[in-house]
Amino acid sequence: MSTAIYPGSFDPVTLGHLNIIKRAAACFDGLIVCVMVNSKKTGMFTPEERVELLRKSTARFPNVEVDFSNELLAAYAKRRRAKVVVKGLRAVSDFEQEVQMAVINRHLNPKLETMFLASSEKYTYLSSTIVKEMARYGTDLTGLVPREIVDDVNRRMREMEGKEG
Ligand code: ADP
Repeated sequence: MSTAIYPGSFDPVTLGHLNIIKRAAACFDGLIVCVMVNSKKTGMFTPEERVELLRKSTARFPNVEVDFSNELLAAYAKRRRAKVVVKGLRAVSDFEQEVQMAVINRHLNPKLETMFLASSEKYTYLSSTIVKEMARYGTDLTGLVPREIVDDVNRRMREMEGKEG
């Protein structure tokens, strides 16, 4: 059984992420999409909420599981017996940091390989940060995030703006 992990912050999941999930799920028996918790960053959604949004968005893929972890990715992969980490590469700008992380992860867990999937050209410029910016201006999020979560993102943005006064 070949299992791969697709780690990220997914705050929130975008159609760019979903495209990678769909393509990676077709390459492995099982794909674990893992929300990696970075305690220094507070996001738009809590890790539990991000998991929920990912579950809603990936319900149609039977071999995709969604999880979250505050461990090092290398340790998490070992515990879950996954041998491959999948990463999406949008542009040259992603490359340096991603290769650096791949090398460190292999140093920590020599059996762990990182595989890169090139972003679909439709989503090369899409990021969670762009989605948050668009939501702030009230732009229609259709075509940017999975349709199952459009309302959740809009609702949270309104709540956040309400708090800011
Ligand atoms: P973001 O940069 O959008 O906040 P994450 O940190 O959650 O995204 O990214 C998790 C993984 O998904 C990384 O490997 C990242 O390169 C990849 N990724 C993010 N957005 C896209 C996209 N639009 N197309 C392909 N891969 C992407």
